[in-house]
Amino acid sequence: MWTGTNSKDVKIQNRLLVRNLIRRFGPIARYEIAQETGLTPSTVTVITAELLEAGVIREAGHGESTGGRRPVLLELNPTAAHVFTVQLQRGEATAAMFGITCNSLAEHTYHLDTDTPDEVVETIGLCFEQLVREADIDPDTVLWCGVACPGLVSSDRGVVERSSNLGWLKVPLGEMIGRRLGGMPVHVENISNAAALAEKEYGLGRGYSDLVFVNLSVGVSAGILVNGEIYGGVQGYAGEIGHVSYIPENGPRCACGRRGCFEAVCSARAVLERIKAAVGEEEFAQYGLSKDTVKLRELLNSPLVKSEAVQRVVEETGHAVGILVANLVNLLNPRIIILGGELSAFGAPLLRKVEEEVKLRSLEELHKSSSIQLSNLRGAGPLLGAYALALEKVFSLEEWAANAAVRV
Ligand SMILES: [Zn+2]
Repeated sequence: MWTGTNSKDVKIQNRLLVRNLIRRFGPIARYEIAQETGLTPSTVTVITAELLEAGVIREAGHGESTGGRRPVLLELNPTAAHVFTVQLQRGEATAAMFGITCNSLAEHTYHLDTDTPDEVVETIGLCFEQLVREADIDPDTVLWCGVACPGLVSSDRGVVERSSNLGWLKVPLGEMIGRRLGGMPVHVENISNAAALAEKEYGLGRGYSDLVFVNLSVGVSAGILVNGEIYGGVQGYAGEIGHVSYIPENGPRCACGRRGCFEAVCSARAVLERIKAAVGEEEFAQYGLSKDTVKLRELLNSPLVKSEAVQRVVEETGHAVGILVANLVNLLNPRIIILGGELSAFGAPLLRKVEEEVKLRSLEELHKSSSIQLSNLRGAGPLLGAYALALEKVFSLEEWAANAAVRV
């Protein structure tokens, strides 16, 4: 561990060290902070007094006595700063305002026309204003914005290079949102990468450094974590597993323009179409649904989902997803593969079929050590991942140095 010195040059770093230790291990006593950091008790007293004065940390009761008086415990003040996050999908934007201890203060989903980036950015701006009002916070305490977006995302530059899901080409989304939010820094990440990170931080992937998240939604793609980091390939676009060929000749048309990709067979839209082809209009009507306008979400909430015809489509989908996952197991041998996105709501019957196929189609030594699970983050993965990424920025040395006004 890096240990602080009292040199003037590392004064800022000492403060960061103390603050980040409180973030990770709080509530924590001052003497424990001194032990962990190697700073002298008097330096810790000075720094914690400053952080208390600035409202960055707060007192949180007393710890156990180690002989003398019971020590005062310190923890991060959850309202010291905020992070604004957005998750985009075709026709839909979900936004949330978080405190810095992963506490969601307000959240909304908007249905909108996502064809025009300018309109999406304007909606995000309005949403920010609404969430600030609802959460009843000072907008100046919102330090970063995190965005999870489908498609090929160059997160270094905040540019969506191409998204067949949204129909976008070379959209400088980070810059556009930053401008709309009065210069706020923005981090844009691919939706599956963000969800993979969320699984590692808050979901079933906790404690695992090698995991794959498979997004089974409007698009099909994977977020791959290797040694705890997003594996992006040369340009950061890796994980487009939905466009791996599944039917080599004359397969159905895919959103990418080619034929026979996995996404053309097992995306949410393709599966819904297959269900519509298998279930009669009258059967839909029996359950109060319209065959023409039914959404996958409505179907998932209806008892119709348990019908033989729908379960047959679920089984076929599990077959295709199972082949996809078996390829991932053979290729990467990750500790855990987590299935998320709308289709994962088909639950146990889907998972059973996927596991069956993986056993058949991947090497025993590999699949024995790779577990396959359904995400338990209830679709909030991308939003939580965008939050985790933006929060890292808030707590980075660069942000501290650059943002003298709000030293969280
Ligand atoms: Zn494709």
